[in-house]
Amino acid sequence: MTHPGRLVLLGHPVAHSLSPRFQNAALRAAGIPLVYELLDVAPAGLDAALRTLKSQRAAGNVTIPHKEAMARRCDRLTPLAARCAAVNVFWHEAGVLVGDNSDVGGADMVARALLRGRHAGARVALLGAGGAAAAMLAAVEGWEGARAMVHNRHMPRAQQLASRFAPFARAADSVADALSGATLVVNATPLGLHDGDPFPLPVEQLPRGAAVLDLVYHPLETSWVRAAREAGHWAADGRGMLVEQGAIAFQRWFGVEPDRNAMWTAMS
Ligand code: NAP
Repeated sequence: MTHPGRLVLLGHPVAHSLSPRFQNAALRAAGIPLVYELLDVAPAGLDAALRTLKSQRAAGNVTIPHKEAMARRCDRLTPLAARCAAVNVFWHEAGVLVGDNSDVGGADMVARALLRGRHAGARVALLGAGGAAAAMLAAVEGWEGARAMVHNRHMPRAQQLASRFAPFARAADSVADALSGATLVVNATPLGLHDGDPFPLPVEQLPRGAAVLDLVYHPLETSWVRAAREAGHWAADGRGMLVEQGAIAFQRWFGVEPDRNAMWTAMS
């Protein structure tokens, strides 16, 4: 397998990203002489940046706000990227820009671990209706008999997303409607990313015994996850998904599994 000519994270802004830490650790562990770089590109500059990256046979990740735009620009999408209409991993194959979505595999891995084998038939309450929520639904779609209720502050977006994943997904009329009978509650909004943010929902409202997955990971463990644990829930923040989506991406770029221990060590 020919290595990419360059490895980047394409986003705007990207300075805060933790990806270079663990991707560069994985590159060093594998003895691959590339450096994972941050590439801050405003939306207006995306097409020019993609032309340059093509000439460099580049590969990499894509983050906010380019995931959906990238899906429209790729020459070929994997089935998961097409399902989510979002790309967070790309590479070039003989001049063809290929887009994939490893957020789905990352979400799937952490949610299954959190549910400890009870993912089949799970009842998922999903807060948020953006790209991360779509990845979560694409993961839940693979769980036999599972159902999801999508709640978003702007209802039409929840309806739109749920309709793409019907019949197992449905838009919730209220938070209470979303939470009713939930065995897994997922935060796919940015709430918790900034100091002083309110919780995605009060811990007291979590259904008894429900597992809690916060896709937010900055700063490291979120206070919502900590509060949910203290209230007796199994809970995880977004670092597991972040590292796993990165590990799947690494496998796509280089055809080998990365050293996940090296990636985790670099995160701490
Ligand atoms: P996105 O496409 O911009 O969607 C954001 C969603 O959150 C939308 O549904 C939006 O609602 C809602 N939202 C935004 N601000 C809100 C607020 N103040 N209160 C309530 N809802 C709000 O973003 P995304 O790509 O889905 O990412 C969402 C979060 O997931 C990110 O902030 C990131 O922390 C996390 N994430 C983590 C990973 C990981 O690997 N751990 C991967 C991807 C994303 P409206 O439609 O009403 O605007």
